[in-house]
Amino acid sequence: LGSDVAVETTEGTEIGDEDTLLGGLAIDSTDDIEVPERLVDQVIGQEHARDVIMKAAKQRRHVMMIGSPGTGKSMLAKAMSELLPKEELQDVLAYHNPDDGNNPKIRTVPAGKGEQIVAAHREEARKRNQTRTFLMWIVIAVVLGYALLIAGELLLGIIAAVIVYFIFRSGNRSSSAMIPNLLVNNADRTSAPFQDATGAHAGALLGDVRHDPYQSGGMETPSHDRVEPGAIHKANKGVLFVDEINTLDIRSQQHLMTAIQEGEFSITGQSERSSGAMVQTEPVPTDFIMIAAGNLDAMENMHPALRSRIKGYGYEVYMDDTIEDTPDMRRKYARFVAQEVANDGRLPAFTTEAIEEVVLEARRRAGRKGHLTLEFRNLGGLVRVAGDIARGEGSPFTTRDHVLQAKRRSRSIEQQLADDYIERRKDYDLTVREGGIVGRVNGLAVMGQDSGIVMPVMAEVTPSQGPGDVIATGLLKEMAEESVQNVSAIIKKFSDENLGEMDVHIQFVQAGQAGVDGDSASVTVATAVISALEDAPVDQRVAMTGSLSVRGDVLPVGGVTYKIEAAAKAGLKTVIIPRANEQDVMIEDEFAEMIDIVPVSHISEVLDVALVGEPEKDGFVDRLRHLTLGGRKSPDAV
Ligand code: ADP
Repeated sequence: LGSDVAVETTEGTEIGDEDTLLGGLAIDSTDDIEVPERLVDQVIGQEHARDVIMKAAKQRRHVMMIGSPGTGKSMLAKAMSELLPKEELQDVLAYHNPDDGNNPKIRTVPAGKGEQIVAAHREEARKRNQTRTFLMWIVIAVVLGYALLIAGELLLGIIAAVIVYFIFRSGNRSSSAMIPNLLVNNADRTSAPFQDATGAHAGALLGDVRHDPYQSGGMETPSHDRVEPGAIHKANKGVLFVDEINTLDIRSQQHLMTAIQEGEFSITGQSERSSGAMVQTEPVPTDFIMIAAGNLDAMENMHPALRSRIKGYGYEVYMDDTIEDTPDMRRKYARFVAQEVANDGRLPAFTTEAIEEVVLEARRRAGRKGHLTLEFRNLGGLVRVAGDIARGEGSPFTTRDHVLQAKRRSRSIEQQLADDYIERRKDYDLTVREGGIVGRVNGLAVMGQDSGIVMPVMAEVTPSQGPGDVIATGLLKEMAEESVQNVSAIIKKFSDENLGEMDVHIQFVQAGQAGVDGDSASVTVATAVISALEDAPVDQRVAMTGSLSVRGDVLPVGGVTYKIEAAAKAGLKTVIIPRANEQDVMIEDEFAEMIDIVPVSHISEVLDVALVGEPEKDGFVDRLRHLTLGGRKSPDAV
C-alpha cells in the first residue's frame, strides 16, 4: 500500500544516478510517469498512520488522526474504506407501520436486495391499482346509468360518481403507501462506503424526517416515506470520517457516541416544530468505523467521552509533517506531480526541470534539513497554479519558470500581508539598521506559517514604587512576562541589581499586526532588558531569534529560514539563531550572501555578538560570560 508501491515510468523502472532531484528517474515529462489507480497506492509517507489504518481495518477499530491540514487524513480514511470487505454491505428499508404510523419499521437486507424489494412492491401496487381503477369505472358506470335511466336524476348521479372516484383514489394512495422507502442503497458499490461528515449539521449527520405540510385528509405523505438517512447510517459497514471533530456541537457528539456504542440509531425529525419530530423509526444500523480527525486543538474541545471511546476501542495517530528526503521519496514526489496533472486533466505535462523545482519547494517547506514536506494539499495547489499559468499561455508543457511564477502567485494571505507590511514600513523606515541603541533589539517573528518579519523590541527599566512589575502592551504580554521572569533568574545570579524592585517596560514595536507569533522572542526580550539594565548599547545591525531557558540556554524555535530571509531583506547584517536550529536553515542562495548567520547556545554568546563595545570590567555581562562559559570567546560564524 502507498509508499511501498514503486514508481513506474513508461521507459520501465530503470533508475540512473540516484542523487538527482528526481531520484534518478529517466523521464522527459510527467507524461512518462504512471499513476497508480487505487487511492491507497497513491499515499506517500505516513508510514505509522498507514500501518494503523490497515490494522484498524482488519480489526474494525476506530481511529483518531491528529495532524496538519493536507497531510492525507481524509485520503487515508477513504483508502481504508477500500480495504474493508464489501461482502458485508447491507441495504436498509423503512416500511409503513400499520400499528403506529409514526414509528416506521426498519428492515436490513443484503446489498442489492433493497432495489429488488422496492421494485416488487411497486409492481404489486401498480397491479392492485389497475384492478381498482377498472373496478372504479364499472361502479361509476353503474351509478351513473342507474341515476340517469332509472331515477332520472343527473345531478345526484354525478355527485355519487365523484364520491366513488375519491373513495377509490384514497385506496390507491394507501396501497402506494405500502411501498417501502430505500434508505440506504449499496447495490452499485465497488467498495465499502466512505462518508465525510465534516461540518455536517445534525440532520445530515444523524438523519431527519421531513415536515409534511398536509398531515391529514388523504393528502399526507406517509411518515416512512419522509425518513432520510444521516451520514452515520449511510456509513454502515464502512467508514465515517469527521474532520475538525471539535466543531461538531456537543449534542451531535453525544448522539455520535450512542451510535458508536449501540451500533444502531433511530431516525427522528431534527427540527422540533416540524411534524417530522413526531416520527421516530425503529433503530437503523450504524455499524461504521469512525475516523475522527483534526489538529491538536481539536482534541481539547472534543467531548472527552467520545475521545475516550475512540481511545478505548481504537487507535490514536499523529500524522507526520515531513519525511526523510531519499531518492525513492523524491521519485514519489515526481509521481505526485504526475498524479495531480492526471487528476486535473487539463494541465500541461510538467517538464523535468519543473518537477525538480516542485521537489525543491517540498524541501524548503519542510523547514527541516534532509526532509520533504508532507503538506500535500498546498503542494498540489502549487502544481495546479503552475499548470494553470502554463495553460493560460497556451504552452505545451509546464516549465520551471511557470512553477517559479506560481510560487510568487500562490503566496499565503499572511505572506501577502507581511510583504505589504514590510513594504509600507519601508516608507517610514522603522527598521533601524545601524549604530548602537540601549534597550532596543531587532527581534524576528513569523506571521502565519511562512512569513518572517523584523519585530523590534524596546525595554526600559525604572525603579518601582511598590513591588516590581512587568509592563508590556498588546497580545504578547504573557510572553513578555515569561521572558522577563526567565532572565531575572540569570540577572539575580550574576548582577547586584534586583529586578524585583524595578518596573520593566517592554514594547513590541508595531506588533499589533494580527497573526504575529511571539513565542520565540524571549531571547530578544532578555537582551533588551539586560541592555537597558546595564546601559549597554545593542548593535542595530544584528537581528535575533530564540527561546530562553531559566539557566540562559538558547532553545530552538520555528521558522528560522523565514526569519533569516526577513532579516536579510530588511538590510540587517548579522542574525543570531539557536544552535539547535542550525540544520533547519534553508535560505535561498541570494540571501546567504547578504547576511551572516551566528548560531548560539547561551545568552552570553548572544550578548557577545549583540552588545556594542567591550563590557565593563567585572560588570554583569562580563561576569556572566566568564562564569557560564569559562571565558569562551565569541562563537564561530557560519
Ligand atoms: P487532510 O484530510 O489531512 O486535510 P487530505 O487527505 O484531504 O488532507 O489531502 C488533500 C490532498 O492532498 C489529497 O487529495 C491528496 O491529493 C494530497 N495528499 C495529502 N496527503 C497525501 C499523501 N500522504 N500522499 C499523497 N497525496 C497526499
